[in-house]
Amino acid sequence: MTTPTGDNSLIDPGVARSLAAAVPRSYWLDQADAPEPLPALAGSVTADLAVIGGGFTGLWTALLARERYPHLDVVLLEAKTVGWAASGRNGGFCSASLTHGIGNGLERFPDEMPLLEKLGEQNLREIGEAVARYGIDCDFQPTGELALAAEDWQLDGLDEEAVAARHFGHDVEVLDAAGARAELSSPRWTGGLKYTTGNAMLEPGRLAWGLLRACLAAGVRVYEHTQVTALTPAAGQAGMRLRTPYGSVRAGKVALAAGVPGGSLLRRVGAYVVPVWDYVLMTEPLSAAQLDSLGWRDRRGASDLGGQFHYFRLTRDNRVLWGGYDAVYYNGGRIREEHASRPETYRKLAEQFFTVFPQLEGVSFSHAWGGVIDTCSRFCAFFGTAHAGRVAYAAGYTGLGVGATRFGAQVLLDKLQNEESERARLTLVNSRPVPFPPEPLRSAVIQATRASIARADRNAGRRDLWLRTLDRLGLGFDS
Ligand SMILES: Cc1cc2nc3c(=O)[nH]c(=O)nc-3n(C[C@H](O)[C@H](O)[C@H](O)COP(=O)(O)OP(=O)(O)OC[C@H]3O[C@@H](n4cnc5c(N)ncnc54)[C@H](O)[C@@H]3O)c2cc1C
Repeated sequence: MTTPTGDNSLIDPGVARSLAAAVPRSYWLDQADAPEPLPALAGSVTADLAVIGGGFTGLWTALLARERYPHLDVVLLEAKTVGWAASGRNGGFCSASLTHGIGNGLERFPDEMPLLEKLGEQNLREIGEAVARYGIDCDFQPTGELALAAEDWQLDGLDEEAVAARHFGHDVEVLDAAGARAELSSPRWTGGLKYTTGNAMLEPGRLAWGLLRACLAAGVRVYEHTQVTALTPAAGQAGMRLRTPYGSVRAGKVALAAGVPGGSLLRRVGAYVVPVWDYVLMTEPLSAAQLDSLGWRDRRGASDLGGQFHYFRLTRDNRVLWGGYDAVYYNGGRIREEHASRPETYRKLAEQFFTVFPQLEGVSFSHAWGGVIDTCSRFCAFFGTAHAGRVAYAAGYTGLGVGATRFGAQVLLDKLQNEESERARLTLVNSRPVPFPPEPLRSAVIQATRASIARADRNAGRRDLWLRTLDRLGLGFDS
């Protein structure tokens, strides 16, 4: 039964009801015990290291700087509040992968993959250790994850993926339809993969707030509502000058950890990253019977295997987070706050949710939100320096940065301190992605790619000429 809406499309009344009370805020940040904002920087200060950005990259950079080099005086400047951007809006999948999956890594860094996988596993282990050491209550659960096929064509290549993953030491099982449904009950699954290693689930907002507390306890000076508006060499002396609305910082070194907006401070960053919006729904807590109907006993985070894919997980109070599918690039690439909410995507996501989990009919969504993914053409982070090595930057995590940002922070410090290590010598660390063309070609290329991925999903995964060309150029991505 459907009801006509003003724009001539049809909306199921159950879907409409499910969304009616959803507040347009990240559930992770919409918590009664959210920290009070810290005062903005007023006046001029100096520091050995200034970190721009209070997402995971910046927070880990500041904290690890104090751990690795206790003599350094560190300042962190955040334009709004710590964790308000991607770091507080994501799915909370903390993957060991530094390359956005083994397939993407093998494609781009085949010789380095054994080391990259080893460093990624070490990074994930050290995140768990830091969470325990600093007493961060972010429900860190090393569950592994499920990759589930919703169409027969999505089963193609799963055996090969499992072989490659086992080669790198992962514990992975290929599931048939019954096996997949036993892990998480849905009539849609035709099979999948069950990883018991390589991923932890966590609450991203609480991780950001916990890292903030750890930074403050370690002596980092953190200023919120302090946007850096200019980054220039300091006059007549070594170091950099950072201009802010009510003051300035003179710093010996600068770590630029600002995601896509970092491009406005350093043009070379802007050439490589584009803002792609991703949207998320969160349900009310499920009843015991509803939870039971899912059979989601091991509580592994999950995603499906479409080109336009969903990711989904349970929270500690038994809500279901359901996100992904529409990855939206707004022509021109300006980041506007009004894009943080997109009812047409929420509607699509809700319809798909009830198709995958018909047993949850009647469940409502409490929150719906969007966030910016800093997307680059190689789908994993890139790094570099500017201003004669006084500035180092990291960006381009492309939707898999909850874990990789800590690795990125280590790289930033290696670069700023001229450290020699196997990590510092990696091609992944020293090469950059293919830049995006300037607008308006940039919008045309990205929209063509989005349309082709959607077409491939409708066409049993067959990639059209455009996607095959991107694949040949090393610019293609298959989730
Ligand atoms: C909806 C969504 C779902 C996702 N799901 C997952 C997932 O499940 N797993 C996963 O691994 N990854 C996921 N990601 C990606 C992950 O969230 C990011 O890779 C990661 O949070 C990036 O952290 P960051 O610190 O580099 O950037 P951000 O979190 O974007 O932080 C950058 C910070 O810099 C600040 N800033 C910018 N400019 C300035 C300036 N001039 N002065 C001062 N401060 C400035 C911003 O205000 C912001 O707080 C998801 C992302 C989104 C949006």
